[in-house]
Amino acid sequence: MTTASAGSLAVVRTPPVLMYHSVSPSTAPDPHLLRVHPDRLDQQLRTLRRLGLRGVSLAELVDAVDRGDARGLVGLTFDDGYADFLHHAVPVLARHRMTATVYMVADRLAGTNDWDEAPQLPLMDADELRAVAAAGHEVGSHTMTHAALAGLDPASLEVELRGSREVLEQLLGAPVRGFCYPYGSFDRAAADAARAAGYDHACVTRDYSVSDRFTLPRFYVGQEDSGLRLVAKLVRHHLVQRRTGGSAA
Ligand SMILES: [Zn+2]
Repeated sequence: MTTASAGSLAVVRTPPVLMYHSVSPSTAPDPHLLRVHPDRLDQQLRTLRRLGLRGVSLAELVDAVDRGDARGLVGLTFDDGYADFLHHAVPVLARHRMTATVYMVADRLAGTNDWDEAPQLPLMDADELRAVAAAGHEVGSHTMTHAALAGLDPASLEVELRGSREVLEQLLGAPVRGFCYPYGSFDRAAADAARAAGYDHACVTRDYSVSDRFTLPRFYVGQEDSGLRLVAKLVRHHLVQRRTGGSAA
């Protein structure tokens, strides 16, 4: 992947990036399949370790790719900023000495996923988000309002992209480098606006064969993904990437 310099839109080849949402032992209805039990997450991370892989935040992964040093790394990402990340995912990640990225909806701090028809879950407040960062995890932006960015006008793109970055940077007192498109909705204008808003990279929600620094591919991992199914998804990722003919980082 490493033909891309910072901010370029050159075609890149990426290591696998896993996409999670909620991590919780709750047994409440989960119609959108957003939830993974902490025991399942533990099993999945154990599977990664057995394969000689280590989960890292997306910023760490991108830096490693830039250095040509990403072999054995897998990106771990958690969308929306659910409060259960701090209470149920952070301890499991710590047990396996892995890091992850949380993509926060900046205008919904201490709110809920009110953009969804799904059951409402609490999102992290400012202190919880700072605790996540203090535990060594990356906080990225997931817009201000969980807006779908494809087709959005330039002024709204500016608010969703630059506005959310500024809110989170002020809250954390640190740069926010990563961005994640809600619903995986993006177009060229949105990707250009993400770059212009000062992000270093951005990720989507599908595993594409052709990608660049502002449309980094990811794949969904859920409660049904036992060790074997996770291995199958990792293999599929490499097959998809191989079709581009690039060389592994
Ligand atoms: Zn989301």
